[in-house]
Amino acid sequence: MTNPYGIALQPAPEFRFDEWLANVDTDDGLRLADIEEPFVYLYNFQSWCPGCHSHGFPTMKAVKDHLEAAGRGHLVRFVAVQTVFEGHDTNTADAAIDSMARHELSDIVLGHDTGPPPTVMVDYQTGGTPWTVIIGPGPDRIVLDNGFHLEAEDIIERIEQHLPDPASAAADSTPSARNEQTMNTPAPNPTTDELRERLTPEQYEVTQNGSTERAFTGQYHDTKDPGVYHCVVCNESLFDSDQKFDSGTGWPSFSQEISDGRVNRIDDRSHGMVRTEARCTNCDAHLGHVFPDGPRPTGDRYCMNSASLSLEPANE
Ligand SMILES: [Zn+2]
Repeated sequence: MTNPYGIALQPAPEFRFDEWLANVDTDDGLRLADIEEPFVYLYNFQSWCPGCHSHGFPTMKAVKDHLEAAGRGHLVRFVAVQTVFEGHDTNTADAAIDSMARHELSDIVLGHDTGPPPTVMVDYQTGGTPWTVIIGPGPDRIVLDNGFHLEAEDIIERIEQHLPDPASAAADSTPSARNEQTMNTPAPNPTTDELRERLTPEQYEVTQNGSTERAFTGQYHDTKDPGVYHCVVCNESLFDSDQKFDSGTGWPSFSQEISDGRVNRIDDRSHGMVRTEARCTNCDAHLGHVFPDGPRPTGDRYCMNSASLSLEPANE
């Protein structure tokens, strides 16, 4: 299904299309970090490309219709881009808009990558049109699929494969599995209903289902107030504000834990890469990830979700 051209299983390059033609609000165009949906369906076409009209557009429409019918339309952001590497006279902005209308896709984001060479072709190493790139969830936005003539059913399967599974997430987070090795503070055993009641929907999604808040949107990404950051679920202290640093990533970042063992590190092989997930040792809440590119002397970067944390301000 994939091919020797496209990059895959690595972070998605930022969009740098030169023109945005439809359904983009900002003057700067759409950036990956602006996208709230966990998945991005990036479709490359040229208006003069017959395979785009016979296969690429209908495939995108079929995936979109299927997801909407299944109540999953909110999971995928569709981005179509006219990727012009030939036919520069006919693959115009107007032609791109007409093509989208013809396939009843006028409501999705449309970009125009005029080249030569088109940036998406260079950055994603695409091999022509129609070309489809499926980008996954998380701060790193891993490229899950990247290929010519992907089929709708394979794309849907790929997306469903990477959806968080509420049943297994709940099973993983039963506190009993970890209680023996934990510490002074007794682990609480709140029920799902209690947590849903007490936490905001975002706090619940992040801590219980391992999702990631959007960069630069969390309560603490920019906070410099002194104090202690606690686990939002069980109130265990996790980080001191002295250990917080400005990583530029848009998520609160710390160079070390307030005390060794407060954060449990787990191998995370989701989205086709090996990362280190950070969980609260006490209650098993998902916090974020730990990366080995932090400041000295620890060299650790605890990349946390604000939604997992609660700051207790220091006394004046
Ligand atoms: Zn906790």
